[in-house]
Amino acid sequence: TMQDDGVEKWVKGVCRFCGYGCGVYVGVKGEKVVSIKGNPDAQTNFGFLCVKGFLAYKSMYHPDRLTHPLIRQSDGNFKRASWNEALDLIASKFKYFHEKHGKDSVAYYGSGQCTTEETYSFNKLWKAGFRSNMVEGNPRLCMASAVGGYISTYGADEPAGAYADFEKSKCLFIVGSNMSECHPVGFRRIMRHKRNNPDVKIIVCEPRKTSTASIADLWLPVDPGTDLAVFHSMAHEIIKNNWIDQGFVERHTRITDGSKALTLEEYGKFLEQFNPEAVEKITRCPAENIRQAAQWFATSGASMSVWCMGLNQRTRGVWANNLIHNLHLLTGNIGKPGADPFSMTGQPNACGGVREAGALSHLLPGTKPVANDAWRAHVEKMWKVPPGTIDPKPGFPTMKMFESLGAENDPNKPIKAMLVCTTNPAQSLPNLNKYLKGMDDAFLVVLDIFPTRTTQFADVILPAAFLYEKGGVYGCSERRSQFTEKAVNPPGEARADLWIVAQLAKRMGHEKLLPWNEADTMKAGEKAWNDYVQITKDTGHTLLGATYQRLRESKTGLQWPVPSIDHPGTYKRYVKGMDPHMERLQKAGTIPSEATVYFYEDARKEGKANIFVRPYQEAAEMPDREYPFFFTTGRTVEQWHTGTMTMRIPEIARSHPNDYLEIHPDDARRNRIAMGDMVKVVSRRGEVTLPARITDGTMPGVLFTHMHDQAISRMCNFVCNDAVDPGSAEPEYKIAAVKIQRVSGP
Ligand code: SF4
Repeated sequence: TMQDDGVEKWVKGVCRFCGYGCGVYVGVKGEKVVSIKGNPDAQTNFGFLCVKGFLAYKSMYHPDRLTHPLIRQSDGNFKRASWNEALDLIASKFKYFHEKHGKDSVAYYGSGQCTTEETYSFNKLWKAGFRSNMVEGNPRLCMASAVGGYISTYGADEPAGAYADFEKSKCLFIVGSNMSECHPVGFRRIMRHKRNNPDVKIIVCEPRKTSTASIADLWLPVDPGTDLAVFHSMAHEIIKNNWIDQGFVERHTRITDGSKALTLEEYGKFLEQFNPEAVEKITRCPAENIRQAAQWFATSGASMSVWCMGLNQRTRGVWANNLIHNLHLLTGNIGKPGADPFSMTGQPNACGGVREAGALSHLLPGTKPVANDAWRAHVEKMWKVPPGTIDPKPGFPTMKMFESLGAENDPNKPIKAMLVCTTNPAQSLPNLNKYLKGMDDAFLVVLDIFPTRTTQFADVILPAAFLYEKGGVYGCSERRSQFTEKAVNPPGEARADLWIVAQLAKRMGHEKLLPWNEADTMKAGEKAWNDYVQITKDTGHTLLGATYQRLRESKTGLQWPVPSIDHPGTYKRYVKGMDPHMERLQKAGTIPSEATVYFYEDARKEGKANIFVRPYQEAAEMPDREYPFFFTTGRTVEQWHTGTMTMRIPEIARSHPNDYLEIHPDDARRNRIAMGDMVKVVSRRGEVTLPARITDGTMPGVLFTHMHDQAISRMCNFVCNDAVDPGSAEPEYKIAAVKIQRVSGP
């Protein structure tokens, strides 16, 4: 039972942390949020919350909250400023850089934590107002490879199915995801499903025996980055044993190496090199585990894969995603209840605000590329701007953007100014040492609710509102848009991002593009939302029927496609009778009326999905004599991202106050490391010093730490690799080669 703490009203909302999208009620007493409880009607969490969601409101009242704008003075100190002073300064600097150094000299770096209305507004201001595609966001660092995987395989982003498939699945293949800690409420559903149905098989593929792996029927231990060989090997077993769904493969797929079509026989021949014995040598995963995994996956009748950053944050993240899709396509495990390739997302609105509303340098709202002539023309029409306004050339992806950021007089740094919104790149970028100077040298504006490592490099700091102080729409991992009502006012002079972006637009002469320049964020939000959703009309991801009113009234939100106001939303895409877009295309004659499954968007011919034959490639940096260990990072259940909010929740800060280094007992012994010893971890890029935690939960040769610590000496990203996937431009956070040295006892 929970205490109400004198709550006077409960306001509907969404959890602020993680991409799972738990529905909440925010308890208000007077002018203050005093409690949060799970929303029992929410179809994501059915009333359950993890510790972060339950305690989120406590971060709102930490004394560190930013409550007024700050401008850096020539002596380096920050001075309190009025909103007018701060916004005028930003506008005049941005105008100056535009005139002197061109439209692409001012960048926006956003986040999967802003509401869709906010991200959409910044995106529109930059792409239509400034005519610049220098728009990026931290989702580039977490799900760009998943986007690349979905688009290259099916022609459209985001999963076909939903969380409802967890309980319908007979085999769950969880790979590159410590779901029990990173999406704990979703994992709870899987645990319950397993408890009620002991025959359901759970397979976990991970270099660590995580708490997720602890409930698995089968663990596939793999050296970081080698799992591509395991996926190939599973495909090998599936074809060799004729576990394929022949009809599905023939009707709905084509096998390709990216340039030419291949037959199933040719694919099978390619896979011979990945027989389980050969793959055991590459990966350290026992051959019999691979065989067993392939059999369970292929023959269960309803298999679902769930993955996250372990697959995406890789130099071959897109390929890893493609290979998971291959397993589903070979066995027909898509489009049926309980059968789905499902990528989880890390942030609460990475899917809604950034993927769907297209706030990356190569995208436009509606998830289509800026390079797509027809879509550009469509968006220009919707935005009522002259044809040719939007630059067809993509801007820079995140790592290149930060590499290009620097001083005005530095000819090698074309980006002179950046607005950073609700994210903390000075702690979260990989290979941090390489990027801090650029942030320091450039004109940097940071919008956040707390001082962060990034605000230390800022020229102007803008105090923002917490989600429950402004409200808006978040879209979670399962294509579900959910609404948060504004519960209370922000503290001091802190303001909602939507107001801030509209004020900036006004000062830069683009008021017409963002005609929602009003203090009431609910009213402004509705205008911005309507402006956005009209762009998605008649597409496979339409939100046209998800009006503000419906979202506000709904207890659980709506899953797109939702083409009209009487449509209930879509649980499964690509399937006749379930997907309204497919139905529409069948009526129009674009899709044959007899088709039962159809992957329909863009370049896919005959509605077929691609089974990609991808070569094996290991990580950009592998252990060697000098750097003999793998180093990998992840999250803990209590903390979130760089800890700027969760570390300010007293109960959470106490439960996980600092990060530590997980090391296998064999490695500890060989290096004379005891529990609690301080250990220096050194890569080719930087170092951290962490207390040792000796555990057989990690494989020998693999070191692990979390990514939440606030102390510079323990920030893992100094060590991590910034090499990127050539397809998605997502960096390889998950794999670095390091050496270690014991520096002191506990
Ligand atoms: Fe919030 Fe994610 Fe926890 Fe749910 S699982 S309460 S969305 S942090």
